[in-house]
Amino acid sequence: MKYVFGPVPSRRLGQSLGIDTIPLKTCNWNCVYCQLGRTIPLTNERRDYYPREEILKEVEQVLTAHKPGEIDWVTFVGSGEPTLHSSIGRLIWGVKELTKLPVAVITNGARLYLPEAREDLTGADAVLPSLDAGSARLYRKINRPHPDITYERLVDGLIAFREAYRGKLWVEVMLVRGLNDTEETLHEIAAVLERIRPDEVHINLPTRPPDEIWVQPPDEEGLMRALAILGDIARVVHPAEGSFDLSGFESVVDAIVSIITRHPMCEDELRRNLELWTPGQVDKALEQLSSSGRAQTVERYGTRFWSASPAHYPERTT
Ligand code: SF4
Repeated sequence: MKYVFGPVPSRRLGQSLGIDTIPLKTCNWNCVYCQLGRTIPLTNERRDYYPREEILKEVEQVLTAHKPGEIDWVTFVGSGEPTLHSSIGRLIWGVKELTKLPVAVITNGARLYLPEAREDLTGADAVLPSLDAGSARLYRKINRPHPDITYERLVDGLIAFREAYRGKLWVEVMLVRGLNDTEETLHEIAAVLERIRPDEVHINLPTRPPDEIWVQPPDEEGLMRALAILGDIARVVHPAEGSFDLSGFESVVDAIVSIITRHPMCEDELRRNLELWTPGQVDKALEQLSSSGRAQTVERYGTRFWSASPAHYPERTT
């Protein structure tokens, strides 16, 4: 499978079948916490990165192979910003024609200032955009956006989308210790959220290898502060437990690449997900991936994570 992965366990979306519409890593932001590493180059160009028909054919194949109840949501998410695929709107409607399952889009929301980008997402049942900062200064520091996407455009886009959109709008706030977990920065975010009026606010913590080596999740106090300041509709979303569905893979090498391209993982977690194969087969596959340059390891939080090779993690702070 090239474009479809999982289902994978998700706290918010149950067993979520992922659709990845773009190559690693294609994004108009370069977040300090990005688990996919550095965005090189930063791009805001929309393209049909992969043919729509091919993506939908794969989705249909995977949906047919699963029994009712095995998948809860179909989610556009993956190797960067999914709305950079110029057929994202038609892809969403294409999936809706294939299944009655609800469709979600995990996006940074950066292009929602454009009417056509808002129109594209109207078919989704839930849209999960990001808002990590309540000021332009902090936005530039955390998300390091493409120059076309100013903070004013980001916020105006989210407000305009909320006004027109009838589905669930769940805004994600990724908390980074010392950057957006202080009282002042959280009050700034809360003030902007009041203008956006999302249905829910999901507080996320960086748990997979962040692009920047100095990124840390907030401590307990920072988390409590965020919950208190961001209000009743805010909740903390910890990573879900459970295994990735790898039943469609014959080769352990392909299964590993599919996982670590979208979810860089520490070795223990990776091995837990690869129980369909023997430890010896996994050892051999990891060695092969490493020596062929298709996979790499990156050290963060004192742990070694496996990641796909095109991802770039600077070892030093910038
Ligand atoms: S976290 Fe998402 S929005 Fe930020 S750089 Fe990574 S892919 Fe792009």
